[in-house]
Amino acid sequence: MNEEQFEQSKKYYDENYDILVRYPFLHKTKIQIPENLSREQRLCRFCGKTSPETSFRNKAHAVPEFLGNRTIILLNECDECNRSFASWYEDHLGKWSLFARSMTQTLSKKGRPTYKNESGTFSARSNGQGLELRIDDKELQQRLATAEAPFSFGLPMKVESQPFIKFNAAKAILKAACSVCPDSELKDIQPVIEMLMKRAQMTLSCFPVLSRFTPGPIDDSVSEIVILKRKTDLPIPTYWCIIQYRNHRLQTFLPFVRSDQSWMKKEENVSLKLIHYPSRFGPNWEYGLETGKYEDWSCIESETISYQASIQLNQFVKMPPADSSDSST
Ligand SMILES: [Zn+2]
Repeated sequence: MNEEQFEQSKKYYDENYDILVRYPFLHKTKIQIPENLSREQRLCRFCGKTSPETSFRNKAHAVPEFLGNRTIILLNECDECNRSFASWYEDHLGKWSLFARSMTQTLSKKGRPTYKNESGTFSARSNGQGLELRIDDKELQQRLATAEAPFSFGLPMKVESQPFIKFNAAKAILKAACSVCPDSELKDIQPVIEMLMKRAQMTLSCFPVLSRFTPGPIDDSVSEIVILKRKTDLPIPTYWCIIQYRNHRLQTFLPFVRSDQSWMKKEENVSLKLIHYPSRFGPNWEYGLETGKYEDWSCIESETISYQASIQLNQFVKMPPADSSDSST
């Protein structure tokens, strides 16, 4: 995002939206939604059931833990809905994002994630101190032997996701948005909840998801979820959800919400203005410009996607000789 794009984006969102919710993924105390609710008072905001008809034993993370959320807990989500959302939607977003999360070492429930490609020629994992890449490619090894820093290369092998469904991955973002919305918005976003609960069939010819990548050393402290709410009467979506997880950012709007239905019916051809939310790293980020794209996540077929990554090595360090105790006998 260059300076001009940043200013335009900032102006657009400042003029048209208020920040309804902004929760960090890491915080010294847990953020409970709603605050201080006893187990007996809990009412699942998705299925509408209370105890003992349903149970509230498990901790329901409002945003998936694999995106780095350790903090934001939804008290009004029952165990059954929690399990369903994990398999229906979050599993798909997890598969879509695994490569990116491994490359940026996003904190998850089980520590730092590991990605391996199918042929076993590439892996990205934590070695306890940082990211460790294993790249099995003779030609690249030869180039590296004589290379000087800084040295850039693209991954020479096929690096793909596991099969997943994009529309289900998109619904995982919508589920997170519905989880962090305050009670005051639940009536308005009820159609989204109906869709997530499979009580209403909603199809979209296009479901835009905006994604951004910011280069450089970025840690978990920047990770957060933001919900914006429209404050003008313009025919634009009422709610946007932005999820920043380390270097990556996802953004989408909440479709079908009640307060959008009047203008959506009036507009003959609804065309949405898709503007990336201004980067929290500002327009002059020292590690380089953000890159981003718009994608249509309305596809309901299972697919695998190929990843491309450009890696820059800024320093070569001589490693001590490998332990030779095995070969000394
Ligand atoms: Zn429920």
